[in-house]
Amino acid sequence: MSDPKHNERQELASPPGSIMHGSGLLSATEHRRKLHSIPEIGLELPHTLSYLRQALQAAGLAPRNCSTGLIADIGENGPLIALRADMDALPINEESGLPYASRHAGAMHACGHDAHMAALLAAAQSLAAKPPRDYRVRCIFQPGEEGFFGAPAMISAGCLDGVAAIAGGHVGDLSEELAPGQLGFMHGSMMAASDLFAGAFLGSGGHGSAPHHARDPIPALVQFINGAYALRSREADQRRPFVISVCQLDAGSAFNIIPERAAFKGTARSLGEKERELAKRGLRRLCEGSAMAMGVDFEFEWTDGYPSLVNDAASVEACMAGAQRLLGTGRVKMLSAPSMGGEDFAYYLQKIPGCFWFMNSQNPERGIRYPNHHPRFDVDEALLDDVADLHIASAAALADLVIGRPAIHAAGQRADQRGGLKQ
Ligand SMILES: [Zn+2]
Ligand SMILES: [Zn+2]
Repeated sequence: MSDPKHNERQELASPPGSIMHGSGLLSATEHRRKLHSIPEIGLELPHTLSYLRQALQAAGLAPRNCSTGLIADIGENGPLIALRADMDALPINEESGLPYASRHAGAMHACGHDAHMAALLAAAQSLAAKPPRDYRVRCIFQPGEEGFFGAPAMISAGCLDGVAAIAGGHVGDLSEELAPGQLGFMHGSMMAASDLFAGAFLGSGGHGSAPHHARDPIPALVQFINGAYALRSREADQRRPFVISVCQLDAGSAFNIIPERAAFKGTARSLGEKERELAKRGLRRLCEGSAMAMGVDFEFEWTDGYPSLVNDAASVEACMAGAQRLLGTGRVKMLSAPSMGGEDFAYYLQKIPGCFWFMNSQNPERGIRYPNHHPRFDVDEALLDDVADLHIASAAALADLVIGRPAIHAAGQRADQRGGLKQ
């Protein structure tokens, strides 16, 4: 899940440790802790890639570079199903106090992408040990989800070539409808288009005691903000999710100086094209109108962010049924409300059918209760094997769907190894 745009580069610490211990492969938790300690931001993630490449090779796979990410294929025959994990971290100083906390100053896996990688690695290890007979699996490890457009870069480099369907998901606390350990699916739009707007009102400064000698840009800014929120309540359909938030203001330098310039930045979140277009055109109109009304000049810029994430109905039904066989019906829910966060998995779903899920990975009793992007964010590692199994079950379920047969083995092989399925 992404939000602000970041471009800082972090200092890199020493490379990750071994990906083997003794003769066996590491567990999902062990992978997660190693990856957690080496967070990297953006599209270039050299330490993370090096770790994943070695781990995939140790599992007997042959990972390939794709854009600045990795893909690894498993199996020989049948339709190709993709499973995706994002890899990038955030520009946050970690405050978790964990023994495996970030060794990279100014960077932290505070959105759970370390857990996403670890679970997909564990799934890849299991699938490599016993490849599916009549379908193939492509593991996609993607950089730059946090506002860097990693997914479209991977698609341009061919990560979806030959892929029939895709599944992926997000850990953390992304839905009020999910209790810790619960998994949520949703039909249709599950996450919002996350666009950015910025601008300024330009007047001429002066003494605070004599506004008649100045052209004050601040009243225009106030009108703009009020108008922006009225756009939501008066012009948009109240029954449809739509958010406008002005989040950053910049004007003035002292209590008695009228500034030359009053600037703003904000975000618009929408599920439908109608609302996205309303935000884009309506905010520009309000900016222009506020400037004209108050006799100042204006600047306005709109930047398209990620599009809305829209799940494929049949893929959701198939993956949800597989998840229920795996985790039991009590832990799997159909969500009624979307998240207004953004996620570049949306780009994969614009190309091929697939399904995105949310797993509530909190555990308040163990102090794991902070939201995504918090400097004390953590993930309940007891759930990582469930997420790995969910990947395998999703691949099987989507393969059954593509082949057009009833689901027969969508619960996944790792669950069998771990002592059977839960009902
Ligand atoms: Zn995030
Ligand atoms: Zn995320």
